Amino acid sequence: MKPAKLESAKFLENYRVDKPDRFRLASVDCADTGKVDKDAAGAMLADEVKRLSDLQERLYANHRWAVLIVLQGMDAAGKDSVVAHVMSGVNPQGCDVHSFKAPNAEELDHDFLWRTTTRLPARGRIGIFNRSYYEDVLVVRVHPELLERQNIPRTLVGKHIWEERFQDIRAFERHLARSGTLVLKFFLHVSKEEQRRRFLDRLEQPAKRWKFSMDDVNERKRWDDYMAVYQDMIRATSRPTAPWYVVPADHKWFTRLVVATAVIEALESLDLSYPKIGTAGLKEMRKVRAALQAEAPRKGR
Ligand code: AMP
Ligand code: MG
Repeated sequence: MKPAKLESAKFLENYRVDKPDRFRLASVDCADTGKVDKDAAGAMLADEVKRLSDLQERLYANHRWAVLIVLQGMDAAGKDSVVAHVMSGVNPQGCDVHSFKAPNAEELDHDFLWRTTTRLPARGRIGIFNRSYYEDVLVVRVHPELLERQNIPRTLVGKHIWEERFQDIRAFERHLARSGTLVLKFFLHVSKEEQRRRFLDRLEQPAKRWKFSMDDVNERKRWDDYMAVYQDMIRATSRPTAPWYVVPADHKWFTRLVVATAVIEALESLDLSYPKIGTAGLKEMRKVRAALQAEAPRKGR
């Protein structure tokens, strides 16, 4: 059976933040499944993974555009699972995934965009940031002692620091867009209750225990502060050239579907034709083909 196709443009409008000034995180239902039937979702995702694989081949061959996918979300929101499932059909040679943890000493000695800049995808490639420079207006905002560790000259740290960072991020992403990097950002919005269930699952299942960290529980205590800084950040940095998608994340199968659909729609908006071969090139190829065909196959090979 052929999977039902989503009316992707309309479907995505529900999740893309096109009117950032009016955006309110509290109005997003983390458990939303967009009227998609769960039984059909597996086949739909499989179909999308195939399309993504074809589009990535073209992106690679076309070699003009790059795609940057930024994943943000609270712990256990499903970031790793999006990487594993959505990118499962993509040729590993054309794709890079980077996870950003708490910065090391060298990273702290640079501006906050430095460490991610060195990991940006080259033309023809898809780059995924599992967390990103956005941590510097999220976790660092919730914990001012982390800002202190960045050793920025004191005269440059004032009460407008977050608005200044938003400005810098907007300018940076516009610069990327103007150079041919498509920037797509996903906030996986999990509810506090679903996070509780997933943490319990991590504690109960031996194969998942390694993912559990006491830090996560401490961050959970600051839930409301995180929601406030996330909302502020999304309002300040969702722009047509680098939009945020706020993706309901209580159902992993749905999260994957939204992300895959958004990446496909963005890739399809590009003209990813294979490089054209001129008449001279084609003539040369015909000659080589004839020569290869004329070669007698060797026995036993
Ligand atoms: P995980 O994604 O579970 O591996 O956790 C990575 C941790 O690194 C999270 O707690 C992040 O908040 C933290 N982290 C990432 N980037 C930064 C940053 N720029 N400053 C401080 N902490 C960060
Ligand atoms: Mg974690």
